[in-house]
Amino acid sequence: MHLMTPTPYRVRSPRPDQADTVILTLEPVEGACPPFPPDQFTMIYASGVGENSISISGRTRSGGYAQTIRAVGAVSGALYRARPV
Ligand SMILES: Cc1cc2nc3c(=O)[nH]c(=O)nc-3n(C[C@H](O)[C@H](O)[C@H](O)COP(=O)(O)OP(=O)(O)OC[C@H]3O[C@@H](n4cnc5c(N)ncnc54)[C@H](O)[C@@H]3O)c2cc1C
Repeated sequence: MHLMTPTPYRVRSPRPDQADTVILTLEPVEGACPPFPPDQFTMIYASGVGENSISISGRTRSGGYAQTIRAVGAVSGALYRARPV
């Protein structure tokens, strides 16, 4: 699949970092996360709100992405409040 193809991910474990910052663990609904070089970022779409560029801050043992998000506006606020479903 092309890297620019929109792909659904699940929120696995939001972990508070600072008062306004959360570390989200995201795993693809199907398949594996593509490998990423240092400084890579993803475009994350918060359903019904919009999308943001968010850097990949790490990789989880299960192969997911860790992404650290500071809530400053509508999109980052929606991502900050995202919970596992
Ligand atoms: C390559 C790239 C990587 C990025 N990686 C991350 C990341 O890992 N984590 C992350 O949280 N954000 C990251 N950002 C910023 C992110 O894409 C958004 O700009 C940010 O989340 C705000 O978007 P918003 O739509 O929620 O708020 P907006 O509606 O765009 O902004 C609301 C208000 O907050 C101000 N603002 C915007 N960003 C910040 C900020 N960081 N600190 C203080 N005030 C701010 C704006 O000037 C505006 O006044 C990255 C941006 C780029 C271009």
